[in-house]
Amino acid sequence: MSLLDKFEALRSLQMALAHAASVPAVATPMDEVHSAREATVQGRRLLLAGSNNYLGLTFDDACRAAAIAAIEAYGTGSTGSRMASGNYRLHRGLERALADAFGWPAGIVFSTGYQANLGTLSALGGAGDYLLVDSDSHASIHDGCRLSAATTIRFRHNDPDNLDRRLTRLGDEARRTLIVVEALYSTLGDRAPLDEIADIKARHGAWLIVDEAHSFGLFGARGVGLCEELDLLDEVDFIVGTFSKSLGGVGGFCVSRHAEFELLRMASRPYIFTASPAPAVIGATREALRRVLAGADLRRRLWRHAHRLYGELDKLGFSLGSTTPGPIVALVYAERDTAIAHWQALLDAGIYTNLMVPPATPGGLSVVRISLSAAHTDEDIAYILHSLEALAPARVAT
Ligand code: PMP
Repeated sequence: MSLLDKFEALRSLQMALAHAASVPAVATPMDEVHSAREATVQGRRLLLAGSNNYLGLTFDDACRAAAIAAIEAYGTGSTGSRMASGNYRLHRGLERALADAFGWPAGIVFSTGYQANLGTLSALGGAGDYLLVDSDSHASIHDGCRLSAATTIRFRHNDPDNLDRRLTRLGDEARRTLIVVEALYSTLGDRAPLDEIADIKARHGAWLIVDEAHSFGLFGARGVGLCEELDLLDEVDFIVGTFSKSLGGVGGFCVSRHAEFELLRMASRPYIFTASPAPAVIGATREALRRVLAGADLRRRLWRHAHRLYGELDKLGFSLGSTTPGPIVALVYAERDTAIAHWQALLDAGIYTNLMVPPATPGGLSVVRISLSAAHTDEDIAYILHSLEALAPARVAT
């Protein structure tokens, strides 16, 4: 058995996925990107309904100008860790702006959202501590737990009773236990019962971190997420977010209402042992954040699309991953082949969505995921609906 033999099994999976549809459904080759809503794939211009570009800011004029200005002022890369030569005024300014947006004293920027979870969880969870993690969490959360010296315990997805029982069993150790959840889960678009989780956390004297990767910029009066919308900023201890979704860049952050969180810079290996984000990325993200905080026009447009699509798809008899409207619209299938056929039908209609199949999905389900964007027009949404009508279970049944 050689070092590389273990990858042979993956070759057949890769081939199966590459040939299941006319265009590879995994790692779909985007040859040109024209705007936040259109790209060319294998010679065809497609409507993008499977990006995380919730506010459509990747092509925003002010964000692009800010990226260019940052390159002119600071160059193309930092070539150093934040602990060495990569600690620019740009990075510190964005951290301050993020913490201020939450009204909190501490905030740290990481080079990706993945590293934000890795860097925060691995440093917060020390020897003798406990990480109590929702079982359907993103890979970056599970990997952050693996990198930490804490004991990791999973609780059943979105099940407050199960969480409560596990904390009861931990007894006094609850005080050194960090509950880890996402606000909006990315595969099915379902929300965590954050009110109940915050209650349980307070009752046991535990700690709570919420990953708002898919909700930052979309929820709350200021737009900083679901915890803000639910008025939980005094209950939650840490919030993680990414720049790669509503903010249209790349990078991640963690903010905290505990000033001591700043000390994590001295302990977090994924923060210390990597170069700081490139100036262009920080410049554009700072502008995107300003845009989010300046007004609700973009998120209002996104919500109008979400309510319309959820309402119509329910009437058409589609099984959706969430009953509550949101930016992620997950069409859920028991059979993988039906999901692949629907993904292909949408592609044939000129619409790119995400295909997700087991084992990458919870509960063995297959999913065609549509992500909405404020960049979508009302006509785009009408077209997506029109294209889905032909595939509707209600239509097929009659
Ligand atoms: N957390 C969650 C919940 C995510 O969905 C993602 C990305 N899909 C990340 C973290 C990682 O973010 P990034 O792409 O910025 O690394």
